Amino acid sequence: MILFKKAAALTTHLQQCRTSGASIGFVPTMGALHQGHISLIMASAAANPVTVVSIFVNPAQFNDPKDFEKYPVTLEKDLELLAQAGASIVFLPSVAEIYPDGLSSPVHYDLGRLEQLLEGKYRPGHFQGVCRVMDRLLRIVGPAHLYMGQKDYQQCMVVERLIKLLNLPVQLHTCPTLREADGLAMSSRNTRLDERGRQNATGISAVLRFIQRSIAPGATQSLVDTSIEMLEANDFRVDYVSIADAQTLEPVQQWNGRQPLVALVAAFQREVRLIDNMTLSR
Ligand code: AMP
Repeated sequence: MILFKKAAALTTHLQQCRTSGASIGFVPTMGALHQGHISLIMASAAANPVTVVSIFVNPAQFNDPKDFEKYPVTLEKDLELLAQAGASIVFLPSVAEIYPDGLSSPVHYDLGRLEQLLEGKYRPGHFQGVCRVMDRLLRIVGPAHLYMGQKDYQQCMVVERLIKLLNLPVQLHTCPTLREADGLAMSSRNTRLDERGRQNATGISAVLRFIQRSIAPGATQSLVDTSIEMLEANDFRVDYVSIADAQTLEPVQQWNGRQPLVALVAAFQREVRLIDNMTLSR
């Protein structure tokens, strides 16, 4: 496993790999790695001779400065996990390496409705920050294949749109969400939960499974209302529970029984904000 800190050196190295015919798989992360991240790396390593993993806690995508400050960093353990998982290259850039012109930027990515719905609405500027870092990382790495998690469902949609906007020759692979034995979606932020919060946190996947079991043609609002009550009973402060069109994320008030749906939740356990989602079918 080779470690790069400089973008130019990485780009030159990867150019040589491409010339010798190797397809490049890329897994962008913010570190504090868990088995969810590892599953993406293994998917890439199984399909590409070269897998690049970036670890970069992107200041541009944090709308809450406290969340940024408290984001967990476990670099030594991450590097051990990466070597075991079969990563060929780790990219560990500094903020100055990613944003050589500083953090303020006039570039605006046209994300349409995605920026007004759900995470777009509750985390203003977040997806612009995601696009900014992904624009830069995709140009530095130039992968043929990009691996991201369904755990961040809307983020995958945003990145798919970015790839189209920039007309980049990269294929996005959305990989399944890995969960703890009790159903909690793995997340770097889970390490910030105290014991009580960790127990309560299973409420999110329980609510998503409840929606999966209960969804039926007709009005969806009572399911959303019951879900919010269930989360509040587990001490959650709820940003949203949404039953939405799986392709557009527009809320679906009346379901015809055929339209593909996804249920999405964002909620705070004390100051820790957790998100999760599940696709729904009859
Ligand atoms: P992050 O480090 O949180 O920015 O996540 C890096 C990548 O890992 C993103 O594409 C996430 O969607 C993905 N990811 C995060 N949690 C999981 C999980 N539990 N299962 C699968 N992928 C995940």
